[in-house]
Amino acid sequence: MSAIADDTKKSTEAKGDTLLREQSFAQNLFFGEILEENLFPYPSLREKDREVLGMMVDAIDQFLVDKHKDLRHWDREAHQPAEFIQALRDMGLFGLIIPEEHGGLGLSNGGYARVLEQTSSHDSSVSLTIGAHSSIGMKGVLLFGNPEQKARYLPRLASGEMIAAFCLTESGAGSDAASVRTKAVKNDDGSWTLTGEKIWITNGGIAGLYTVFARTEGSEGKMTAFIVEAGWPGVSHGPHEDKMGIRASSTTTVAFADVKVPPENVLGEVGKGFKVAMAILNNGRTGLGGGAVGGMRALLRMATQQAKDRKQFGKSIAEFGLVREKLAQITVDCFAAESTVWMLAHYIDSGCEDYSVEAAISKIFASDAIQRAAHEALQIAAGNGFMKEFPYEMMTRDSRILSIFEGTNEILRLYVALTGLKDVGGSLKEIRSALSEIFNNPIKGFGVLSGYAERRLSQATGVGTDKILRELSPSLRKAADIYEEYTVEFAKASDALLRRYGKSITDQQYQLKRVADLAIDLFVGLCTLSRADTIERAGGPNAKEAVSIAAIFAKQARRRMVRNLRGLERNEDKELDQIAGFILETGAYPWDVI
Ligand SMILES: Cc1cc2nc3c(=O)[nH]c(=O)nc-3n(C[C@H](O)[C@H](O)[C@H](O)COP(=O)(O)OP(=O)(O)OC[C@H]3O[C@@H](n4cnc5c(N)ncnc54)[C@H](O)[C@@H]3O)c2cc1C
Repeated sequence: MSAIADDTKKSTEAKGDTLLREQSFAQNLFFGEILEENLFPYPSLREKDREVLGMMVDAIDQFLVDKHKDLRHWDREAHQPAEFIQALRDMGLFGLIIPEEHGGLGLSNGGYARVLEQTSSHDSSVSLTIGAHSSIGMKGVLLFGNPEQKARYLPRLASGEMIAAFCLTESGAGSDAASVRTKAVKNDDGSWTLTGEKIWITNGGIAGLYTVFARTEGSEGKMTAFIVEAGWPGVSHGPHEDKMGIRASSTTTVAFADVKVPPENVLGEVGKGFKVAMAILNNGRTGLGGGAVGGMRALLRMATQQAKDRKQFGKSIAEFGLVREKLAQITVDCFAAESTVWMLAHYIDSGCEDYSVEAAISKIFASDAIQRAAHEALQIAAGNGFMKEFPYEMMTRDSRILSIFEGTNEILRLYVALTGLKDVGGSLKEIRSALSEIFNNPIKGFGVLSGYAERRLSQATGVGTDKILRELSPSLRKAADIYEEYTVEFAKASDALLRRYGKSITDQQYQLKRVADLAIDLFVGLCTLSRADTIERAGGPNAKEAVSIAAIFAKQARRRMVRNLRGLERNEDKELDQIAGFILETGAYPWDVI
């Protein structure tokens, strides 16, 4: 049986729900299994969050709506005035996820994502200043800090007296984050001497606290996380970077010249810094996702108004199919992204043990979706959209970063595919040993034949494959049929890929991208299905449209999945790779008409 989908599944009904906290929903898809317990009902916000959010969302709107002109000006000038940052502090926006006992608002991940959605609907740089602090800058103290570290830092982080930044990237260590060169050497008195330089650090120029990742040689491992105060001797930062987007938010280098770090400022275990960094990034992804949803909502609002107001050929352009199609597609993408981000927040808030694949999928989908939305909204505004007087160009520039930072979407696609396939690979090995047991000792052998092997058998025969048993309305039933069918196809394809490539699957990036995109369509589609089902059951005013959106997404996902599954067998990967080799060798496009 796989490490994931086995009979050790524990229901958590004792805690009042059926969520299987030891299970990863997305990783189970690789085994052809849809964990209904982790899909239905679609989660709702905690009552406590709802109260805080009610006030906060209004306050954010009131505060930022009058500042739109200033925000555009600060984008051009590339800075955020100190008084403005002070106003963000006064609104409590730096203490969103810090527990109340440490002076914060104690919002859940879901509540936090909703706040960033609201700030992003006004301005991405504002979201980034708040988000880099909460999602990644101080998240290490929250997740890995000991009680003394929490008591020392969280109150100041909650008030915003200390703004936080996350310092991982270096000139030689971007996607390959494990190769950092910043070094921490242990001194005889137990303190550490930190030397090195980090680049492109969000909040770098305004932070009072840095979570820094440095190489520490030793048997424990190669990287350690440290809490470093900006005021300590040897800590400095460079000038504000001149960026394409999110221009007002602070991005700088941060340098550490023989900085003495006391032993009590080691964050987590010595040598476990890489794990700390990845846990922070995974846990922080709801902020980025919520921000993307907020941006999409704003784009849709503006593009809808533009489509209604603009007249061409004697009609409002909103009457033309090619404009309507764009508005509808942004709506479908926004609903799907929102459904996925809030499902992820629910997994995190409910104490699920492993949500890293779901977190990666939600980041990839939401960041890709907002870029499509920005492109299409600008296209609806057309010439106006291209002018700086209108916000479309700024939102197009601002959204571009989302597929680059906190792990590029390429690296995250590889992560999604390889993490899922790794478990399938483990099961294949298990099957082999179970089969040899069958020949040696048939009775014992059949006993150890894993659930995965049983499922493989049922997939092959078509008997007893996993079904969504829940009663669904007819349009959602059809959508569910698509996901049931393609989850099984996906598991078969994963299995076949591993048999074909073995360990060398890690080098098959063209194929891994298809695997990741299949997992993305399945997970995002199923979250969308669950949300629409819950909305329909509640019988709210827009239930019919929510069901229709889930059905549309399923049909679109099916077309993409068919293409990706076919591509695993028939493709032009080899030829493309040869062209890449050719162009890398020639160094430039060699043809011309002259
Ligand atoms: C505005 C901004 C703010 C940032 N804020 C922070 C911050 O607060 N803290 C922080 O630590 N960092 C921050 N970063 C850094 C950011 O996380 C990195 O830029 C990102 O991780 C990618 O690294 P890189 O830019 O060096 O790209 P590279 O790693 O050089 O990658 C270049 C390209 O190659 C691809 N690639 C790389 N390796 C592989 C592979 N194995 N297989 C396939 N494709 C691959 C990438 O996907 C990418 O398309 C920020 C960056 C920017 C631009």
